[in-house]
Amino acid sequence: MVDEEIGQDKDKEGFDFPEAELVRSTELFIGCTNIVVGKGNVGADILFVGEAPGRNEDLQGLPFVGAAGKNLDRLLESVGLSLNDVYVANILKCRPPENRDPLPEEIRAHTPWLLKQIKEMKPKVVCSLGNYATKFFLALGDVDLMKKQPGITSVHGKAREIEIDGVGFNLIPLFHPAAIIYNRKIEPLWVEDMEIVKKEIVKGEINND
Ligand code: URA
Repeated sequence: MVDEEIGQDKDKEGFDFPEAELVRSTELFIGCTNIVVGKGNVGADILFVGEAPGRNEDLQGLPFVGAAGKNLDRLLESVGLSLNDVYVANILKCRPPENRDPLPEEIRAHTPWLLKQIKEMKPKVVCSLGNYATKFFLALGDVDLMKKQPGITSVHGKAREIEIDGVGFNLIPLFHPAAIIYNRKIEPLWVEDMEIVKKEIVKGEINND
């Protein structure tokens, strides 16, 4: 267990490592209010990875605090979990203007920080939320291969062991909580997939200690 950390609220400066410098080199950084690092329990076995901060996330410096975040809180509660059981981060650390899709060069520049977080946290399971995060991990971090990866509808709930940059973990893709707001029919699938996540945690086959 690493120390517990519920809700980080960091300003844009003060991160003194190469992965943060890469993020600061992107144009997104100029337009953002906050760098959104993550929230939850860094000692948790489960890491959720979404796409990018939105307006509320940028203003508050925390991921998943808007409508999608409220839905994530509700979904977690429905499966008996809370923010103390998970850590939540994104592919991008800054908000894209007008919430447009992340660009390949932004994903390339922002994901080394995410991989650093995974290395430090050593989660048993990484749950990619929605298409962007899922395709990034299925492509094993090779942004050029992301387009060739299957979409979330065909891979959700399927566990696979992957290794990126020497970090091994169990990947279980999940539907994005924002998608569930618009399509309530997929909510039972999310709940079923979380049962698979819980089983993998109990099995705990991946050992990065
Ligand atoms: N959607 C995401 O993917 N991430 C957030 O932080 C908020 C909404």
